[in-house]
Amino acid sequence: MEIPLSRPDINEDDIQAVVDVLRSPILALGPKMREFERKIADYTGRRFGISVNSGTSALFLCMQALGIGPGDEVITTPFTFIASANCILMAGAKPVFVDIDPVNLNINPALIESKITKKTRAILPVIVFGNPAGIDEVCRIAKKHNLPVVEDSCEGLGSVWKGKKVGSFGDLGTFAFYPNKQMTTGEGGMIVTDDESLADICMSLRNQGRGKGSGWLSHERLGYNYRMCDINAALGITQLNRLDEFVRRRSNVAGMYQKRLVDDPRIIVPFAPPGAVMSWFVFVIRLKDRYADHRDRILDDLRKQNIGVNNYFPPVHLQPFMVERLGHKVGDFPVTDSVCRSTIALPFHNNLSQNEVDIVCNTLKACLDKV
Ligand SMILES: *Cc1c(COP(=O)(O)O)cnc(C)c1O
Repeated sequence: MEIPLSRPDINEDDIQAVVDVLRSPILALGPKMREFERKIADYTGRRFGISVNSGTSALFLCMQALGIGPGDEVITTPFTFIASANCILMAGAKPVFVDIDPVNLNINPALIESKITKKTRAILPVIVFGNPAGIDEVCRIAKKHNLPVVEDSCEGLGSVWKGKKVGSFGDLGTFAFYPNKQMTTGEGGMIVTDDESLADICMSLRNQGRGKGSGWLSHERLGYNYRMCDINAALGITQLNRLDEFVRRRSNVAGMYQKRLVDDPRIIVPFAPPGAVMSWFVFVIRLKDRYADHRDRILDDLRKQNIGVNNYFPPVHLQPFMVERLGHKVGDFPVTDSVCRSTIALPFHNNLSQNEVDIVCNTLKACLDKV
């Protein structure tokens, strides 16, 4: 039997909520969409929530809402999911990468200022794997330089840093609800902000450029269709009702892994940083020294034994199309390079059992023994 890398947690309330929408006359732009937006905004302590069809769309609309385009630069991390950098390219601007902190794996705030130029228009930090460490420091630097922050909190819904929810640090925050995230709507995303004019622009951009209260066929600006439908939103509401329980369960699973792996000298085990409540997105260990040289073989070996694993993340700046556009090479971001070649994301979801954690850890240790 396979132990999957991730698995959504869908119960009868979720199913009933979706069925209820299907039995109603309103499937889109309806009450469930608005309720889900209100609830995510309230959960993260923000004034506005704007639902969209993916986390990637959320990030892209943030770029558009800030007027970022050709000739502009946006500072971000090369250790992330590709969408964090693609949204910048899709807007016609240039991603400027900054290397990461070797402990929390987020953008290294100490390296940001040297990359700020006259063309810099925003900073886009990522809450990598749900770890919020350093996000306040990034915002402090941005403020000093009068730059807006787009917080890619797509992996961080539910995390708290120094008493503040993730998604509430940047001028704009973004969430994603793909089935491997902490909570899901199938596909979906959300922008959160306290800025009413940015919220209005995002709402208009995701809805064919329609203005607030203007008619169905009146379009104030160039927009597109990035809307989330009420079927997805209804699932989002029931999932959000259980999010705090999900965060607790995930933290419990992380604890089981930590206990089983912390004493193994071949592995770096992740822990929540002091000062955080961490909403774990995935559980990513790192192999030390010579074991990292064999990471890809170990991934194959684990997969052959039905353990779902992956190499979160390959370096964004070395993806072929990025190299073509930006000309980066191995060595440009040494911490990212060394982290990327050593990571293994282990199976991780709300309902992983102690027995499954034991199987994963025993199999992993046996694979390491063979190296
Ligand atoms: C998941 C994710 C996104 C967006 O995901 P979608 O699949 O488009 O919903 C963006 N950034 C990061 C860091 C992510 O992990």
